[in-house]
Amino acid sequence: MTSAVVIGGGVSGLVAAWRLALLGCAVEVFEATDDFGGAVCPQLLGGKVIDAGAEAMGIARPSGLELFSELGLSDVVVYPRRTDARIATPQGLQKLPPGVLGVPASTDDPLVAALLNEEEIQRARAERDVTITSEMSVDDVVGGRLGSAVVQKIVDPVVMGVHAAASDELEFTTLFPGMDSLIEQEGSLVGAAAKMRGGLGPSGSAVASLRGGMNQLTARLVEACVEVGVKLNVNTPVGGLERLENCWRINVDMVGVSHADTVVVAVPPTVAAKLLATSAPHLAEQVAALRTTSVKVVHLLVHSPELDLQPTGPGLLVRRDRMDVAAKALTHSNAKWAWWEDLLSPHEHVLRLSYGRSHQFASNVTDGLTDEELLAKAENDARNLLGVRKRFYVRASTVTAWPGSLAFAAPGHSKKVAHIAESVQAIPGISLLSSPLAGNGLAGVVAFAQAEVSRIASTHQGEVP
Ligand SMILES: Cc1cc2nc3c(=O)[nH]c(=O)nc-3n(C[C@H](O)[C@H](O)[C@H](O)COP(=O)(O)OP(=O)(O)OC[C@H]3O[C@@H](n4cnc5c(N)ncnc54)[C@H](O)[C@@H]3O)c2cc1C
Repeated sequence: MTSAVVIGGGVSGLVAAWRLALLGCAVEVFEATDDFGGAVCPQLLGGKVIDAGAEAMGIARPSGLELFSELGLSDVVVYPRRTDARIATPQGLQKLPPGVLGVPASTDDPLVAALLNEEEIQRARAERDVTITSEMSVDDVVGGRLGSAVVQKIVDPVVMGVHAAASDELEFTTLFPGMDSLIEQEGSLVGAAAKMRGGLGPSGSAVASLRGGMNQLTARLVEACVEVGVKLNVNTPVGGLERLENCWRINVDMVGVSHADTVVVAVPPTVAAKLLATSAPHLAEQVAALRTTSVKVVHLLVHSPELDLQPTGPGLLVRRDRMDVAAKALTHSNAKWAWWEDLLSPHEHVLRLSYGRSHQFASNVTDGLTDEELLAKAENDARNLLGVRKRFYVRASTVTAWPGSLAFAAPGHSKKVAHIAESVQAIPGISLLSSPLAGNGLAGVVAFAQAEVSRIASTHQGEVP
């Protein structure tokens, strides 16, 4: 492997480009938009830089912190200063018990007792054995083991907040990688959740970010790519891909044609399927069958003395039966990340509300709303969730739509992913990094990009100059 073209300059594409260049490969990146980062990008809110998309990285697996360290970012790694996230229920706010994606690490925790009635707690304590298969949903496994109340009242709001779909729509083994073997080892799901949390501390603390926001990761990756000679292009959408005898021909709008012996396709599945349609129709069909879901993020910069005491900690996840609220989650950004304090005037606060639940819940989402209508809803949701009636003035706001940008890992997803991996390996000189193949989190995306670079490098051993 001597040359590589990376299609897509999100985090997947940038990590792959950087690693390939470190191996001595000549690398060129083509990014369709006018900036790099994809879902990890900055945006202005009243003159302040915020994360328009991803704002944190999971640290349960080591890939994220390792990448920060390799990029020389360890000094600016930050952890949430408040970890007491809440669940918004019809009765009010309750603290989220420590656990893994809502699965409690103990059924004796008073925070669990505050969310369930006595019968529901007894049912959870009498955990039943359920044999896990890859076709089972989160609801099948967690509900089967601990009772449906644990799913509805604790797990579902967390799953919905992170994945924008419900527990009965999503595959257990994809959302909880490694949990099935841990259950066998520990003898129970609750024991496995306790083990998995390990030293990660209270709920909500299993993430890290960077001072100034996750967008700093993109900025540093771009610098790192430049340092190792990666040629970076923006405003260059790739429109076609063709396999020639010994290399790939890449048709780039505005630029013309490029050739490389390796191509890394790091774009969302719908785009990847179109690019692969001619050269790899079977793979294209498999990729087209990957499902995604869409979200919208609203940021509000507000002046509100009533929020100075940070009444909801770092933020909250909204239960579906909280009918007066359309948002699925709210983050009080300056309560969560201490670095905001230097940037805000007295009584100023940054609120981030996310919208979009899978199609099943189209009735309570915001699909048809204009940005103005969504902003009005967001202001109302924020007031309802935070319990602030007076002295709440919106100084600036943004709405960002993220169409088709989250993986929708329905039962059967992991089988689809395994088949796609087989198809990719059968085609010479290609890597496919569409994020649903890696899961929804940045830590997974980073680990997957790194693993793919190792795989393609190993198939070309001895050829890297
Ligand atoms: C709103 C939101 C919030 C999130 N929050 C978190 C979080 O807090 N923590 C976390 O771990 N994860 C989070 N995620 C998930 C995480 O951000 C993504 O999994 C990750 O950024 C995906 O990276 P990627 O490079 O694979 O894809 P993308 O970021 O989608 O990048 C793909 C790139 O390809 C480009 N492209 C598309 N078509 C073409 C073409 N034809 N030619 C060239 N380029 C093209 C796009 O412009 C884009 O830059 C969030 C995602 C969203 C949408």
